[in-house]
Amino acid sequence: MPKLKVGNLAVEVVRKNIKNLHLAVYPPNGRVRVAVPLRVDNEAVRLAVVSRLGWIRRQQKKLVGQERQSPREYVSRESHYFLGRRNLLNVVYHDGPPRVAINSNAKIDLFVPDGANRARREKILQEWYRKELKALVPPLVSKWEKITGLQVSAWGVKRMKTKWGTCNTRAHRIWINLELAKKPVQCLEYIVVHEMVHLLERHHNEKFIGYMNEFLPNWRSLRDQLNSFPLRHEKWEY
Ligand SMILES: [Zn+2]
Repeated sequence: MPKLKVGNLAVEVVRKNIKNLHLAVYPPNGRVRVAVPLRVDNEAVRLAVVSRLGWIRRQQKKLVGQERQSPREYVSRESHYFLGRRNLLNVVYHDGPPRVAINSNAKIDLFVPDGANRARREKILQEWYRKELKALVPPLVSKWEKITGLQVSAWGVKRMKTKWGTCNTRAHRIWINLELAKKPVQCLEYIVVHEMVHLLERHHNEKFIGYMNEFLPNWRSLRDQLNSFPLRHEKWEY
């Protein structure tokens, strides 16, 4: 994506058939993106961004602050996402084995042993996410093996801090980030395809993008969906 340097700020610029400029600051790192009408040139974009620098910096500061917020407590009425849907957690302390049940009214029942502490509750829920995600991956891998003619020899799920997936091209092994259990399933599919395409091309270059365009023409919107839970949008007349 074309980037525009404004001072020490890198701004992603997307040109679209729209009437107004849209500026957004995205978590987790405060990435700045501006959607620009086709006829507006870079110099005008630069000026517009400069005029909003104060706002951008304030949004970025808020994001950094949010990052430092207390972690999830795994208590009742806390929100936890599953496959792109927000659910309210309902913690049930009981005498039986741990289990998790998701019900149709957007509630996750988390059955934990009496006296289970935060770490234990987290572990039980994470293991459930892992099990659910592990059931979703194989059909996607075989679907895309058929489409692409590629072969994945092994795959796994793990927690990763900075990546949605990785691919070991020599071993033909892909890793999927456990966090994807919280995202819409089409985002998971996008990551599976992305990692598989690395078997054809290691780098994110033109060739790689060419394959993505061929296999999954809407990959950009899926990527944006994955990375974009914008804190706030701002729009102004230009
Ligand atoms: Zn990649």
